[in-house]
Amino acid sequence: MARHTGAVCKICRREGTKLFLKGQRCFTDKCSIERRNYPPGEHGQRRIRTSEYRIHLREKQKVRYIYGVSESQFKRYYEIAKSKRGMTGEQLLSLLERRLDNIVYRMGFARSRAESRHLISHGHFMVNGRKTDIPSFLVKAEDVIEVKDKSKKLESIKEALETMQQRGGFEWLDVDATGMKGTVKVLPERKDMPMAVEETLIVEYYSK
Ligand code: SF4
Repeated sequence: MARHTGAVCKICRREGTKLFLKGQRCFTDKCSIERRNYPPGEHGQRRIRTSEYRIHLREKQKVRYIYGVSESQFKRYYEIAKSKRGMTGEQLLSLLERRLDNIVYRMGFARSRAESRHLISHGHFMVNGRKTDIPSFLVKAEDVIEVKDKSKKLESIKEALETMQQRGGFEWLDVDATGMKGTVKVLPERKDMPMAVEETLIVEYYSK
């Protein structure tokens, strides 16, 4: 299954939870799930039968949508996570969290991960002084992410930074909003990822 390109609020409504896919709107009462917290479509308000398989599948889909990765990319991350030491579910989230598009979003240079992917692929960012236009690039501890000089005038980046300053940042990231630059102090642990996700359900999904 490819990356979803349709109306993203429908995804949240189908999953029954806020996945924060639309930037600032997600924090306002315009959020669709605040208004219509039931699945989209003609039969959306009917009760849905749940099975163990469905619960596992939905959790996997939820995380995939949050990070905006395709089914095949997600499976690849899972295989890498499985080969690492430690809890596979936590390793999986850690890998996803290290994607450059996520880091740019977490640092507040973009209002959503989708916007972050767009900005990165248009060459607006550098990692350790080198232009990097690959959203899936995996960032390491102590890497420095920086908006290119020519891109510092972009309104979308300025607006995103203002929003981030109002909401607060993350302890594992050091952001210089004025210089439009940030450093990954350490790689995040599970407690640093603010998501209502049960990653063990994803492991169970792939273990079947
Ligand atoms: Fe989801 Fe954001 Fe749309 Fe709300 S506004 S339904 S959180 S994408």
